[in-house]
Amino acid sequence: MTELNDLQFDLEHIWHPYTSMTKPLPTFKVKQAYGATIELDDGRQLIDGMSSWWCAIHGYNHPELNQAVTDQLQKMSHIMFGGFTHEPAIELGKLLLQITPPSLDKIFYADSGSVAVEVALKMAVQYWASQGKKEKSNFVTPRSGYHGDTWNAMSVCDPVTGMHQIFGSSLPNRIFVPAPQVGFYDEWDQADIAELEQTLAEHHQSIAGLILEPIVQGAGGMRFYHPEYLRQAKLLCEKYNILLIFDEIATGFGRTGKMFAWEHAQVEPDIMCIGKGLTGGYMTLSATLTSKKVAETISQGEAGVFMHGPTFMANPLACAVAVKSTQVLLAQDWQANIQRIKQQLSTYLQPLSQLEYVRDVRILGAIGVVELTFNVDMKILQQEFVRRGIWIRPFGKLVYVMPPYIITENELKTLLEQLVEVVEQMEHSA
Ligand code: PMP
Repeated sequence: MTELNDLQFDLEHIWHPYTSMTKPLPTFKVKQAYGATIELDDGRQLIDGMSSWWCAIHGYNHPELNQAVTDQLQKMSHIMFGGFTHEPAIELGKLLLQITPPSLDKIFYADSGSVAVEVALKMAVQYWASQGKKEKSNFVTPRSGYHGDTWNAMSVCDPVTGMHQIFGSSLPNRIFVPAPQVGFYDEWDQADIAELEQTLAEHHQSIAGLILEPIVQGAGGMRFYHPEYLRQAKLLCEKYNILLIFDEIATGFGRTGKMFAWEHAQVEPDIMCIGKGLTGGYMTLSATLTSKKVAETISQGEAGVFMHGPTFMANPLACAVAVKSTQVLLAQDWQANIQRIKQQLSTYLQPLSQLEYVRDVRILGAIGVVELTFNVDMKILQQEFVRRGIWIRPFGKLVYVMPPYIITENELKTLLEQLVEVVEQMEHSA
């Protein structure tokens, strides 16, 4: 009875992501989660295929991560970052500089991925304004991108699948180029970069930066594109004096098989955003990193400072667990582990490409994507997955998984067998 009342309260009063308040999608009440298992209030156990939207890379209730939070809690959970600093922020900074592109040297901690993107865009605008080039204030970005839900982050999301239709002219007008078409495993075709070149040649005087998700376009379509695109984009940015911004919020911390996706192309950005897996999914924290040159230019400008400073900047609890999460990752042979997951994803998912209503099956690192020819009914599919004891949240034409790295071979086998069965049975309803 209590459970019914609770769910009723939730239904009536609590907003869930991208959900109607009058006709909400069903939600399931979670009691606890551990390892790769999510346990519902009614005792049902689900194998996690989503890592809570890319972030819970080490699974849930991890003893070492728990301990890191508990230890930090005894010291302080939060302290303002204006005028103070602390060990977790410093330790995390040292670690991040070891694993991010060598030319990045300065770190701005923020509270979510979207805010990290806002910070990156502001840095780019301030960089040019500091040099008296206030007209360089717009952004160019490939279509099918996703960078978050705050105002400026939204403005650089795909204009069709993003939120432009709803927010219309209230969003700043960005410059869009076609999404990269050459796939990660395909042969490079220089035509893929042609429109970016043309656009930059035409508009570079008004452009502060090119923002993109390197290698994997995530929420905008789970598309994997060719590393050469990044190398070419970098050359163009240098040629036309434009800052290159990588949004590695989803791709970071090993997910694509490299620590960060830029490594696939060996192209270093001027500004890079990280988040999600940064804290192993324990708390919300993000960071925007940039080069000495960008930071110094901003600091020598008219304002003399970078104009951003969130209340929860460098939250010590979040930084402490981020330090531990990164250490846990680095202490293991994570590349081999991602390969193991990739292998299993290939074995189970690749055969689905034979189905006539499967447009594409693609796998990169610990990401497996099945793209269908039709939009799925999320409500029905979600319930079916839960009935089968797995947690997968499809969207649009995509059924995809990105499991926590600690998932065992057996758990992953069950997860994928169930997924495959559900997709195969769609044949009858398609
Ligand atoms: N950038 C990318 C590439 C993302 O995938 C996301 C989140 N899905 C964000 C930015 C926004 O992050 P957050 O939800 O933490 O604001």
